[in-house]
Amino acid sequence: MSFTIHGTGICGGIAIGQALLHSHTRLEAGHYLLPRAQIAEELGRFDAAVDKTRSEFKTLRDNIPSNSPPEFEAFIDVHMMILNDSTLSKVPREIIEREQCNAEWALKLQSDELLAQFDAIEDAYLRERRADVFQVVERLMHALGGQPRYVPDIVDTGQSKILVAHDLSPADVLQFKQHQFASFLTELGGTTSHTAVVARSLNLPSVASLHYARSLIYENDTLIVDGTQGVVIVDPDPQVLADYRLRQHQNEIDRKKLRRLRTTRAMTLDGTGVELHANIELPDDVAEAEENGASGIGLFRTEFLFMNRDTLPNEEEQFEAYRQVVESMHGLPVTIRTYDLGSDKNIDGADRSALQNPALGLRAIRLCLTEPRRFQIQLRAILRASHYGNTRLLIPMISGVNEVDQTLHQIELAKQSLRAKGIPFDPQIPIGGMIEVPAAALALRMFRRKLDFLSIGTNDLIQYTLAIDRTDDSVAHLYDPLHPAILHLIALVISSANRTNTPVALCGEMAGDVHLTRLLLGLGLRQFSMHPGQLLAVKQEVLRTNLSSVRLLARRMLRIADPERMQSMLERLNAD
Ligand code: PEP
Ligand code: MG
Repeated sequence: MSFTIHGTGICGGIAIGQALLHSHTRLEAGHYLLPRAQIAEELGRFDAAVDKTRSEFKTLRDNIPSNSPPEFEAFIDVHMMILNDSTLSKVPREIIEREQCNAEWALKLQSDELLAQFDAIEDAYLRERRADVFQVVERLMHALGGQPRYVPDIVDTGQSKILVAHDLSPADVLQFKQHQFASFLTELGGTTSHTAVVARSLNLPSVASLHYARSLIYENDTLIVDGTQGVVIVDPDPQVLADYRLRQHQNEIDRKKLRRLRTTRAMTLDGTGVELHANIELPDDVAEAEENGASGIGLFRTEFLFMNRDTLPNEEEQFEAYRQVVESMHGLPVTIRTYDLGSDKNIDGADRSALQNPALGLRAIRLCLTEPRRFQIQLRAILRASHYGNTRLLIPMISGVNEVDQTLHQIELAKQSLRAKGIPFDPQIPIGGMIEVPAAALALRMFRRKLDFLSIGTNDLIQYTLAIDRTDDSVAHLYDPLHPAILHLIALVISSANRTNTPVALCGEMAGDVHLTRLLLGLGLRQFSMHPGQLLAVKQEVLRTNLSSVRLLARRMLRIADPERMQSMLERLNAD
């Protein structure tokens, strides 16, 4: 039976394919032995987790939205039954006692055993129950306080597989780059989480906030993903499928047409040149930036070099990665951002989600300044790469003058250490700051002269100004780039930078949204940096824009408070 699930589109376009449930992966749990005296306590901990999971199911069943598919209640009942079965609620207790191990490990041993039994079943229907068992185990694991961590077991997916996951970390998505999925669907997540940012960089139609998707979708179900509308159609009727295939084909034709603009200079109708740069996560992404005619790399998110590995990249490895990017851009500018780790991008197994407000904690430049040794390694590597091409160094999450001073001091120390060893670098390497904390935008006057360029990170600027956690899907609907406070801050930064002839770019997700191109041009922005896949559509918009006619309207939009009027004004700005 065909049905539709609604979520939040995080990357536009249409994908059609078969569902691959991410829960069909291995669950990892720590293993430790307990003294005999602690066994009773551990059993109590396990029982409490079972009770907690049971009451979660009960709450879910009591609060089923009236528009949910009728199967939903049955799903919850099946999960309740699985939980209450002695294979899950009793056998792990016996393992804890017998092996004297922690509850997570006992649960893992038992779930491995159960899942292996399901794998051996011939009957397709019964085999599908494996996903249900896994989901219950996963909830139990969560209730035990452990964060279930998934290790993908996916080897060869093929283009038409659509990954359906509860949640994915940015590192997970990065790892999936090699698996060639047609689309990503997640039950959690908002539009500007780093996970969404990486998914968008893969240019795959994707939808987040699809609550209960993994309960409603079965392995190998045929899915249509409409990333623009944020909708997933499960098991579509043949007529609907044919219609979407046609639309998919039309999108492909439009994309091919856009490719003709690859070498066209980005210039408005009245002759103002605009720089369109690419955001990249890994050195190999440069190929896509070139294919889409990027006139530079506006943001190299170097923290992705640090992920999905056991040891940190040393100076040599980092230097090679940066040099590769700089050289392959053949003299075009490459903006390397020092690592922005912390918050939702962690390494070292450091799980900062346990903190109450990880996004307000030790993140980005704050983290770098507390770990000067690690920071020096990266600074030296970037400086060394600057010898091989047009390199710029960008500092993330500046919040005030002190951080600018401390960072400039660190850069000076790195330069001195290279000089002492006679290692070449560009002594004039431009140093820029990201404006993504409202305090930095408001206090820009105090430090803009210390920097050579600025880059507005609207993903974080929106998160911190509107107080909405980028990773929390329950507040994703409040994400509003047209909020008057956001437009004012952007306009303030652009005009303040222009006053001192400080080059200013915008590298958050707003830069790649064609609906906002004219507005940003009208506010004085001349440098945009975005995912390579968005470049040509934005270029087309630039080529169609007459600056003199959008300037006035864009300024007027700064005075509008009512969201509906704002929307109709935007439509006026984008008309013709
Ligand atoms: C931003 O915050 O807008 C930005 C470009 O940085 P990131 O998305 O990596 O936080
Ligand atoms: Mg940011």
